[in-house]
Amino acid sequence: MNLFNVYPLFDIEITKGIGCRITDIQGIEYLDLYGGHAVISIGHSHPYYVQRLTQQLENLVFYSNSVQNKLQVELAKKLGQVAGYEDYSLFLVNSGAEANENALKLASFHTGRRKVLSFSKSFHGRTSAAVRVTDNPKIVAPINEGFDVEFTELNDIESVRKILIKEDVCAVIIEGIQGVGGIRVPELEFLKELSAECKATGTILILDEVQSGYGRSGKFFAHQHAGIRPDLITVAKGMGNGFPVGAVLISPIFEASHGLLGTTFGGSHLACTAAISVLDIIKAEQLIINAEKIGQYLINELNKIPQIKEVRGMGLMIGIEFEKPVKEIRNKLLFEKKIFTGASGTNTIRLLPPLCLSKQDANLFLTSFKEIIQSTLAD
Ligand code: PLP
Repeated sequence: MNLFNVYPLFDIEITKGIGCRITDIQGIEYLDLYGGHAVISIGHSHPYYVQRLTQQLENLVFYSNSVQNKLQVELAKKLGQVAGYEDYSLFLVNSGAEANENALKLASFHTGRRKVLSFSKSFHGRTSAAVRVTDNPKIVAPINEGFDVEFTELNDIESVRKILIKEDVCAVIIEGIQGVGGIRVPELEFLKELSAECKATGTILILDEVQSGYGRSGKFFAHQHAGIRPDLITVAKGMGNGFPVGAVLISPIFEASHGLLGTTFGGSHLACTAAISVLDIIKAEQLIINAEKIGQYLINELNKIPQIKEVRGMGLMIGIEFEKPVKEIRNKLLFEKKIFTGASGTNTIRLLPPLCLSKQDANLFLTSFKEIIQSTLAD
């Protein structure tokens, strides 16, 4: 059987990773500034994380959620404390898409409405609220599975008002920072007004922090820069540092009842152990402060490079847009300088490094990047 070929992949086989470095099968070492789409939060193979997961596998139960699992309770408590959401409840799932689907369901159950408002260039996984952010004409969106999804422009509060005033929208879903769509930061004032508008019209506000959460923006959640408190927050990616785990953080306005939501694997003992270890390390190593500091340094330095059209982002979630396609620059960074980066669309490089990135490694990237830009754009 062949693999169903949906991912454009580099012909590089990674066999080892430590911190911000990965090594391929030939022993070549790379600086990882992408972390598998923001998945690596605390760094590759952190010893504490490896030890706890190994211990869990060796000594303790590994089971679905049909029995009591105290690790879920421990995780909920720690996440509430670290994120500043102690009064919210936690529902554990396995991925970002599943977190968003459950958030949409909750919003719909709660309001009795089925219309969803989303934003152009947004991405919420392969869900009912997905948007077409690719040029592939075969991918039509939204992939509507029962919700009636409408789209409007980011930061356009007047358009939002016109839609919400009808009071037939169950949820507005918005990313803390748009990731796949090109690293676009919602204006803080827009987020505040959006939150107020949702409250006034009985609409549930879902903050998708799957990519922008877990400290990446320099706060635990990107929306916390605007000082708002959404009704539902979805997380995944960096939550397990590569172990598949996701969640919905649920405000006290929602009442739980048996059977309302469910999933077989969500919140397994291993997933909880991974997620607890990540939170312990984020706290002990002050990774959110590091993300803020190194991210700001990178953004400042990138802004000095004249060939760059625009630098967008916050913390260690950075988009670098050029006038031209970035494929050649990224390939040269990878094959000549041994640095992994990501992309959003054709013209934007996307940086999503582990949150432990050092200033030394940031400088290594900056020096290499400037050399590659010079050689590529001078051609
Ligand atoms: N939401 C956002 C903002 C994402 O960036 C992604 C994935 O890139 C998802 C949801 C979907 O997450 P998953 O791939 O774990 O389903």
